[in-house]
Amino acid sequence: MGRTEHSNPAEPADPADPADRLGDEIVRAVIDGRPVRIVAVTTTAVAREAARRHQAGPAASIALARGLTAGLLLATLTKDDERVTLQVLGDGPLGGLTVDATAAGTARAYVKHPGVALAAASGARASLAAAVGRTGLVSVLRDVGLGETFSGRTSIASGEIDEDVERYLEASEQIVSAMACDATLAPDGTIAFAAGILIQALPGSDGAVRVAAARGLIADGEFLKALGGGPRDGAGVLGAVLGDQLGEIKILDRRPVRFDCPCSRARAGTSLALLGETELAAMILDDGRAEVTCNFCRAHYEFDEAALEIIRRETARPAGPPS
Ligand SMILES: [Zn+2]
Repeated sequence: MGRTEHSNPAEPADPADPADRLGDEIVRAVIDGRPVRIVAVTTTAVAREAARRHQAGPAASIALARGLTAGLLLATLTKDDERVTLQVLGDGPLGGLTVDATAAGTARAYVKHPGVALAAASGARASLAAAVGRTGLVSVLRDVGLGETFSGRTSIASGEIDEDVERYLEASEQIVSAMACDATLAPDGTIAFAAGILIQALPGSDGAVRVAAARGLIADGEFLKALGGGPRDGAGVLGAVLGDQLGEIKILDRRPVRFDCPCSRARAGTSLALLGETELAAMILDDGRAEVTCNFCRAHYEFDEAALEIIRRETARPAGPPS
C-alpha cells in the first residue's frame, strides 16, 4: 500500500483512449552539435486528474493543464531531487494558480476558484488572459535540497501562463527560452491532449539564435497544430513542432510523469497542531471534530474528538529535548 494508491484513486485508464495508451512522459533532448537543450512533456492524464479532483470548469482545466506542464518543464532545469513551486497570482476570477512539480516527474496543482463558469476565449489559441488576469505576479520557488532554496518573481505580462513563465525564465533566471504549454478540450469539456515544450540556450552560448527560431515556429502555430493533431508521445511532439528546423533532435532520456500529492493524515494533523493549544481546546468544545482538506488534491482528513485531544496534548507538552 504505497501513498500512490491513496493519492491517485482515478478511474482506470481507458485503453481505447490514445492519450491513456501513450501515457504521460517527459523527454529531454539536444540538437546535435548545437548549444541548446530541449524538453517536451505530455501531461494529459496529469491534467485530467487535477481537473477531476478540483471539478474544474473549462478555463480552470486549461489553466491547470498549462500550469502543471510549465511546472514539470521548470523542474527539469537542475539536479535530480529538486522541487519547484510555481505561482501565477493574477487579478482575474480564477484567482491564484499554484503548482508543485518535482524533477522525478510528479506534479500537483490548484486554482483558487476552479468552478468559475468561464470558457477560455477562443481564437487561434484559447486565451486565459481574462480568467487569470493581466496584472499580478509570477513567482517560482526552487527547493534544491538540504534546505537550500532559490526564488524569483516577475510581473504577469499576458495572463496566458506559459508566456508568463517564459518571460520569468528570461527576466529572472537569465536563460534565453522558448516555452509553449497548452491543452485541447474534448466536446464534453474534459482534456483531450495536454503537452508542452521548452527550448533553451545553454548558458554562455550562442544558442539564442536557435531559441529564436523555435519561438518563431511556436508563433507560427506549429505547437497548436501538433496539439490539434491529437495525442502523441513526447518525441512525437518535438518532431511535429520543430521538425529538423533547428538541426537533428537527439533524445537523451524519457521518463514517466504522474499526478501525485504527498499529503497525508499525519501532515494534516501537523497543520492542526500549528493552530495552538487554545484553538484546539476551543475546537474540541465547539464541534468535537475537525476536517482538513488538502488544497492540492482535495483529500479530506477527519479528526474526531479523541484524535483532536491527542494532538492538543502533544501541542501542550513543553518543548524540550525528546525523552
Ligand atoms: Zn493532497
